[in-house]
Amino acid sequence: MSTSIGLGLPASPPPVLAPRRKTRQLMVGNVGVGSDHPISVQSMTTTKTHDINATLQQIAQLTASGCDIVRVACPKTIDAEALPIIAKKSPIPVIADIHFQPKYIFSAIDAGCAAVRVNPGNIKEFDGRVKEVAKAAGDAGIPIRIGVNGGSLDKRILDKYHGKATPEALVESALWEASLFEEHGFGDIKISVKHSDPVLMVEAYRQLAEQCDYPLHLGVTEAGPKFMGTIKSSVAFGALLSQGIGDTIRVSLSADPVEEIKVGDQILQSMNLRPRKLEIVSCPSCGRAQVDVYKLAEEVTAGLEGMEFPLRVAVMGCVVNGPGEARDADLGVASGNGKGQIFVKGEVIKTVPESQIVQTLIEEALRIAEEQGLEEIEGTKAEVKVTQ
Ligand code: SF4
Repeated sequence: MSTSIGLGLPASPPPVLAPRRKTRQLMVGNVGVGSDHPISVQSMTTTKTHDINATLQQIAQLTASGCDIVRVACPKTIDAEALPIIAKKSPIPVIADIHFQPKYIFSAIDAGCAAVRVNPGNIKEFDGRVKEVAKAAGDAGIPIRIGVNGGSLDKRILDKYHGKATPEALVESALWEASLFEEHGFGDIKISVKHSDPVLMVEAYRQLAEQCDYPLHLGVTEAGPKFMGTIKSSVAFGALLSQGIGDTIRVSLSADPVEEIKVGDQILQSMNLRPRKLEIVSCPSCGRAQVDVYKLAEEVTAGLEGMEFPLRVAVMGCVVNGPGEARDADLGVASGNGKGQIFVKGEVIKTVPESQIVQTLIEEALRIAEEQGLEEIEGTKAEVKVTQ
């Protein structure tokens, strides 16, 4: 948690594992992408894009959960026809995701989308259309994402690499397409080289990062259901972000896209790449626990969900590590004998029976937020600035 400073000075930036890799900068609508900007979190709608109301409704939910940029699929003409209204009414920048049909690239640009994602591996005669695409995107002032994917790699490259979507193959495909855009004077490009295997994905991005200065959009593609996808994305993004690689991220889950945003946001918070909000420190419980730690931790987490205020709350099962962790947190409980010692800023303020621990922690959290809210919120804003 940021420390309150009474002199009106911004809080120091929290430590990060590595400085960001320097990239060229570009704008996706009003969101800056590149090393001078915070890492943004993206997701993709799961509605039929031509169902404009449903799509805008889901975009609103994603926006409320903290999504910075949203991508929408455009498989049919009716979807392309819906893009102007969606792009106009969406509160966050909309990227049109184009596969197979080059004509939809131009529809998306004309529709006012903030960027277009193209998959050079499956767009018909893509290389021959690059000049037109570069001109249209350049005239509209929007960037292009070259989105290479292990599952739909350009056949020529796949043949060269004996049918295997190796890291080298993914990188070669992406840089080849980027070079075609550059030949036509277009450099507003970001790149993704997604693979469903996190190890291959990490290696591909590492190689790509060494060979270019394009901003990189990280993703483990087809990562799986919520549990597995969260783990795969977290380890892969962690490996790359810890080396300063990555400018936007998308966690792909077979789940509600709002979950993707929550996971992505938490990954960035965990690495100090976004200001931390609510952080629950809870012990795993063991044979020494004298209260139901799982229940307590779940109830406290649920009771404080959505809190924007940076607050570290410790929920500990006994007196072995309990007092230490509870003291280090802004707020905490060290339990024992069916009771809980409540700590606020390192001091025991009261001892309550187990049945009142959750309610007391929630009340104290709200009281701290109310008392220090303004100062801490200002501190949070300062952190956002310095972590850019
Ligand atoms: S705090 Fe106590 S109950 Fe929790 S894991 Fe540590 S020793 Fe076990």
